[in-house]
Amino acid sequence: MTPAKDHRILTINSGSSSLKIALFVMGKKETLELSAHIERIGLSAGHFHIKDGEGRTIAEEHPHLPNHDTALNRFLKWLQKRKTHLDAVGYRVVQGGLHYDQPELITLQMERALAKLEPLDPDHLPLELKAIKTVRRLYPDVTQVACFDTAFHRHMPTVAQQYPLPRKLWRDGVRRFGFHGLSYEFLIHELASVAGAKVARGRVIIAHLGNGASMTAIRGGKSVDTTMGFTPTGGLMMGTRSGDLDPGVMLYLLREKGLSSSALSDLVNKRAGLVGVSGTSSDLRVLVAQSESNPHAAEAIELFCYEAKKNLGALAVVLGGLDTLIFTAGIGENMPAIRRRICQHLEFLGIRLDPKRNERNAAIISLADSPVTVRVMKTNEELMIARHTRDLVGSSASVKSRRAGKQGRTR
Ligand code: ADP
Repeated sequence: MTPAKDHRILTINSGSSSLKIALFVMGKKETLELSAHIERIGLSAGHFHIKDGEGRTIAEEHPHLPNHDTALNRFLKWLQKRKTHLDAVGYRVVQGGLHYDQPELITLQMERALAKLEPLDPDHLPLELKAIKTVRRLYPDVTQVACFDTAFHRHMPTVAQQYPLPRKLWRDGVRRFGFHGLSYEFLIHELASVAGAKVARGRVIIAHLGNGASMTAIRGGKSVDTTMGFTPTGGLMMGTRSGDLDPGVMLYLLREKGLSSSALSDLVNKRAGLVGVSGTSSDLRVLVAQSESNPHAAEAIELFCYEAKKNLGALAVVLGGLDTLIFTAGIGENMPAIRRRICQHLEFLGIRLDPKRNERNAAIISLADSPVTVRVMKTNEELMIARHTRDLVGSSASVKSRRAGKQGRTR
C-alpha cells in the first residue's frame, strides 16, 4: 500500500478583531507545525504571536495592525521568508447560507455567491472573502477550501429552523442557521473515537462556552436544534453579545432611544452579554475574580449560568432525554465552578456531577452511576478545517489526474 501523501495545510479563522492561523502537516499523522494568534487588530498595539507545534514562541511582536488584511499579509510574508511550501489553505467561513451544506473548493463562482450573503454576516464574510483574495495573490497556485460554520446545522428539522414570521421571509432565507458547526462536528467525531459509535449516535448536547457561546442538541450524529439563530448574536448570553432578546427591545431602542442600525449592532454584539451586565469585563475568569467585591460581576455570572441551564433543559426536551453532555471551549473546558452551577439541581434530568472529577477538569466529570455521562472535551476547529481541506485536496488531485488521463487518451 502506498503511504498517504503529506499535505501542508494552512487554516485561517477570522474573528472580528483577531486572526487564528495554524499550519498542519496532514498525512498518515496529523501534525501541528505552528499556530499564530494575531489579536487586537484595529487597536493601537496589535499582538502578533507565533508558536511552534510544541507551544514554544517563535515570533512575538506588537505592531500596529490597522486591519485584517495588514495582519494576514504580515503573517504570509513571514511564512514566505521561511520558504514554507503550502498545498492548500482552508478557511472557516461563518455563513454558508442556504446553499452550502458541506466544505467545498473555492471558485470564483463561490466567491460571488458568498459576496451576495454579506448582508447576513457583515462582520465576518467580507473579512473572509478578502483573506481568500490576499492568499491567492501571494500563493497563486494554492488550492483553497471553504468550511462553513453553518453546514453542520443545515439539515436540522424544519421546525427547528423556522421563525414564526411571514412565509415570504422564510423563502428569503430568514431562518435559524446555527453556528460553531466545525467545533460540533469535531467533537462528535472525537466522541465516537473515545466512547464508540453507539454513544456518538445517542442523545448528545454539546455546550460550546467561550467568548462566543452556543449549545446544540445532536441525535444520530446530526444537529437537531441549536441556540444560535439567523446570526451568531442569538441564543445564549455571551462575552460581549446579548444572545436572544425580545424583538420589542430592539424596536424600543430604535424608536425611543434613536439608535442607528450600526449603533444597535455595536450594542448587541460588542457591549452586551457579560461585559454589559458586569460593566467591567467580557472575560469570565476576570469576573469570577471580581465577584466578591463587584455585585454586578456576580450578577453577570449568575445570568450566564442561568441562561445556559435554561437552554440545556430546552434542548434535553427536544431530544426526549439525554445520554451525553459535553462541555467545551475556554469556559467549558477550564471552569469547574461554572459547570457546577449550570448542572446544579439537574438530577431530575439524569445529570449527577462528581465534584472531584469536575474540579480537575477530568475527561468524564459525572458520577459512575449518573444516567447522563458528562464530559469535558477540548475542541479543535482548526484541525477540523485541516481534515476537510485534506480530503478535498485529495479528491481534487484525483479529479485533475483523471482529467489529465482522459486528455492524454484523446490526444
Ligand atoms: P473564543 O474562542 O470564542 O474567543 P475561548 O474559547 O478562548 O473564546 O473562551 C474564552 C473564555 O473562556 C473567556 O471568558 C475566558 O475567561 C474563559 N477561560 C477560562 N479559563 C480559560 C483558559 N484556561 N484559557 C482560555 N480561556 C479561559
